[in-house]
Amino acid sequence: MVSPDCLFCRIAAGELPSSQVHADDQVIAFRDIAPKAPVHVLVIPRRHIPSAADLAVDDGPLLSRMVAVAAEVARHEGIADSGYRIVTNVGADAGQSVAHLHLHVLGGRRMTWPPG
Ligand code: AMP
Repeated sequence: MVSPDCLFCRIAAGELPSSQVHADDQVIAFRDIAPKAPVHVLVIPRRHIPSAADLAVDDGPLLSRMVAVAAEVARHEGIADSGYRIVTNVGADAGQSVAHLHLHVLGGRRMTWPPG
């Protein structure tokens, strides 16, 4: 299911440009337009899911594919050994600005903890 007003649905459909680093039948990954680290890639499902809070138990295979793609991207970007962070924001207090599930893959610099 695709939501016509959703930015990331439109990127997944190829209607809007992106710097894509991975695509398969269920998941795509592309570079964040405003990177917060030397490597900042977003991994999204093609299907419109507003956030991680909307995942169902049956979505387990999709979520594990997204995490596997994140790890593959990290290897390809050369940050697998140095380490990286996988983040997904849910809702306003977490700073979610696009209501389409996405994993941020951040790396290439030392991360601080806890996040701000
Ligand atoms: P969040 O704030 O967790 O919802 O993350 C949304 C991310 O999408 C932010 O890091 C934005 O910089 C990024 N973003 C917004 N528009 C685009 C776009 N057209 N292409 C790539 N990344 C985008």
